[in-house]
Amino acid sequence: MAVSRSADVPAEVDVVVVGAGFSGLYLLYRLRELGLRAVAFDEAGDVGGTWYWNRYPGARCDVPTTDYAYSFDPELERDWTWSEKYATQPEILAYLRHVADRYDLRRDIRFGTRITAAAWDEPARRWRLRTADGDELSCRYYVMASGCLSLPKAPDIEGAGRYRGEVYLTGRWPHEGVDFGGKRVAVVGTGSSGIQSIPLIASQAASLTVFQRTPNFSIPARNGPPSPERLAALATDRAGYREAARWSRGGVPSELTDVSGLTAPEEVRRQRFEDAWRSGELFGILGVFSDQAVNLASNDLVAEMIREKIRGVVGDADVADALCPKDYPFGTKRPCLDTSYFETFNLPHVRLVDLRGTPIASVTEAGIDTTTESFEFDAIVFATGFDAMTGPLVSVDVTGADGVTLERKWEHGPVTYLGLMTTGFPNFFMVTGPQSPSVLSNMVVSIEQHVDWIADCLRRMRAENLDRIEPTALAEAGWVRHNQDCADITLYPRANSWYMGANVPGKPRVFLPYVGGVDAYRRACDEVTEKGFLGFRLDGPAGPRCNDGVIRRVQPDVAMVLDLMASLGLPPMETMSATDARAFMEVIDAGRPPGPEVGEIIDAALPGPAGYLAYRLYRPPSRGPHPLIAYFHGGGWVLGSQDSDDPFCRDLCVRTGSVVVSVNYRHAPEDRFPAAVDDAFAAVCWIAANATELGGIPGQLTVAGWSAGGNLAAIICQRARDAGGPDISSQLLLHPVTDCDLGRPSYSSNGEGFVLTAALMRWFWDHYADGPDRADPTASPLRGTLAGLPPAVVVTAEFDPLRDEGDAYAEALAAAGVPVRHIRARGHVHTSLVMVDVVISGAPVRAEIAGALAGLRQAPARR
Ligand code: NAP
Repeated sequence: MAVSRSADVPAEVDVVVVGAGFSGLYLLYRLRELGLRAVAFDEAGDVGGTWYWNRYPGARCDVPTTDYAYSFDPELERDWTWSEKYATQPEILAYLRHVADRYDLRRDIRFGTRITAAAWDEPARRWRLRTADGDELSCRYYVMASGCLSLPKAPDIEGAGRYRGEVYLTGRWPHEGVDFGGKRVAVVGTGSSGIQSIPLIASQAASLTVFQRTPNFSIPARNGPPSPERLAALATDRAGYREAARWSRGGVPSELTDVSGLTAPEEVRRQRFEDAWRSGELFGILGVFSDQAVNLASNDLVAEMIREKIRGVVGDADVADALCPKDYPFGTKRPCLDTSYFETFNLPHVRLVDLRGTPIASVTEAGIDTTTESFEFDAIVFATGFDAMTGPLVSVDVTGADGVTLERKWEHGPVTYLGLMTTGFPNFFMVTGPQSPSVLSNMVVSIEQHVDWIADCLRRMRAENLDRIEPTALAEAGWVRHNQDCADITLYPRANSWYMGANVPGKPRVFLPYVGGVDAYRRACDEVTEKGFLGFRLDGPAGPRCNDGVIRRVQPDVAMVLDLMASLGLPPMETMSATDARAFMEVIDAGRPPGPEVGEIIDAALPGPAGYLAYRLYRPPSRGPHPLIAYFHGGGWVLGSQDSDDPFCRDLCVRTGSVVVSVNYRHAPEDRFPAAVDDAFAAVCWIAANATELGGIPGQLTVAGWSAGGNLAAIICQRARDAGGPDISSQLLLHPVTDCDLGRPSYSSNGEGFVLTAALMRWFWDHYADGPDRADPTASPLRGTLAGLPPAVVVTAEFDPLRDEGDAYAEALAAAGVPVRHIRARGHVHTSLVMVDVVISGAPVRAEIAGALAGLRQAPARR
């Protein structure tokens, strides 16, 4: 078939790039450096990307210009001086034009040309592309550098096409500008674009009516000259500053705080907030407290202080109230920087229409009708946002190797490996794609990182005689899960935001960007490369190769704990005496969050075989009686006490609605095996006998424990069965020690680097029991008879040396006919679940445990 082609569209190139904004320009520069033949296409009439289209009044960047600029060429940096802390759209566009000129990039860009379709040709190992003009061309590699917020959302308001007056879309603003002088103007939408444009439109218009569906958090930008501190830091050590940005959380060098909103004194909270408020920087106000992105109470402190500021500015109390965001946590919808936004509502010709109270019924020929009022306007500005992140990618009809389109593959949400590639679409790259930090970061830093990664990948492939790359299904599924894990520990999924796809009717609700941070993300990408392109399948003249695997398997907050512990260089506990190890644990425990409030806590003692045993009782806030849980702490039979698992016991009490009685027992090496078992059995007998007095429901007794406490709980259930009582209704074994064989695979795979080490377990066993005793079922319950035991909830953690013996116990119980709920805590370590309010990803597992216990309670009686 003959193929028509415009003279300036080549038939074949190495790489096609879609987009000529920050991403496309830098990519062209790097590809040319590699000697690859590349051509870029952009629908726009010139370079600039988002800064080409978004010319509405007040359009500015909201990352400081000291940071919102390329860093790949120090000469370029020296060449350009920004006039303001936050540059206007014309200045940023001028910068990008300067970049295009400086590196002579325009000769490889086809403007006014949209790529409409792309299909992978497997036999030829090339992409075949088509433009809107019908031109066709092919390339080895196809890169979408099309931006995250480049496709304006289609108007989803009844009657939107009916209006006869002037209509403007902030994301497609006329180049000649708009004169609003003397006009009655409406702005629909109060996101960043609305908030930036409203004060300027108000300054021209005869009247301005703002239609607000959701109020937004915004702080004053305090624009002016670039920050002298940042300029000085750049002047002193430009390379160091840029490197710090690359390894920062958000792509701008900033200090991370460890001040928690929950525990900081009021004056510290206020001071930190006011400092951030004065800074006029988004990353400042997003980082007032270490826990504001993950803890609602901490978040609400910041949110309330911002609401106070809004009320302090807006004269009319009702208008102020309507402008205060209240139904989503601060930061979970993109916050804004403004110049006199809230002040604008004090002007007599500006009116706010709160669509929550009176929604838009329809756009009419003359204006807008709400459910209670008809408005007439000369102009309507839609600042209604974008089909973010996935929209621009699926707007091209991309067909992969197996004939499936990208849109179809992503019908339930984007699925990518590192936000860079997607399985089934070989040699197809995305710059700042979904599931990369992109919109949660300084875009320029993230763009440079992606472009560098892609360029480096192509360079290596060429050097190794490879010409096809595609992620594996395993690697991709792992990355998607990791993204979800990261989002799940934050408050982000609680908002109906464009981050969640919630602004576009019918779009799947999944969290789109990677929230783990620029630094963590860069580390993951670098590791993938260092491990021989882990998770990628490569092919070419050199032959196929694949190092398959998942780059991040540990829960993100657990990984942070592990990193922190590694950085502290703590002495291994097995090098200490038992006394020193106990003192060490007490110091560590003193600094942890307290756990949830319970109804009542009582400290008392119960009679044991060799003296009184201290216990701590936790009572739920609800009216009793409650089910009872006899609980035994962890600590390898050497460490701990009745209150050493305090936060976990509180959590267990609240989640299960049970009275939890945490009983201490004698410890080794002072009292070796079987002293702990004897104490634990006596304690359970006493608790069962005193159930009513303790506020328990007789006959509803769970015996529970973590680690060595789980070992005791399992053994006590066996002993109670053999002794004919007490009656135990269920057992909860959390990462239990069930056997003295330290040769199981999890002892090697998880024996180091996951808090509980194989060496420490050896140390515990050595303190607790002699060789022959260890094999006794009262030390190694896996070796006992398991038939006739109470129904069990057994919890094992993926990265625990004790995982395999826990799994074995769950399997053996089931094989013996005992009802078992086996919960496998994916991505967790031995201590994850007891680190309440530190390892946030442990909370859903604890909820599952509580649900499983409730399920066992509802199950028909065992006999
Ligand atoms: P946006 O944040 O999605 O805001 C759109 C606004 O329109 C929201 O208030 C939304 O209300 C409202 N809206 C949408 N559909 C509506 C409907 N059918 N009826 C009534 N109201 C409707 O879009 P944006 O302001 O263009 O900003 C998008 C992103 O671009 C920003 O978050 C930011 O990342 C980026 N941006 C950056 C800058 C900068 O750097 N300075 C400037 C502009 C934009 P709901 O909230 O209820 O959906």
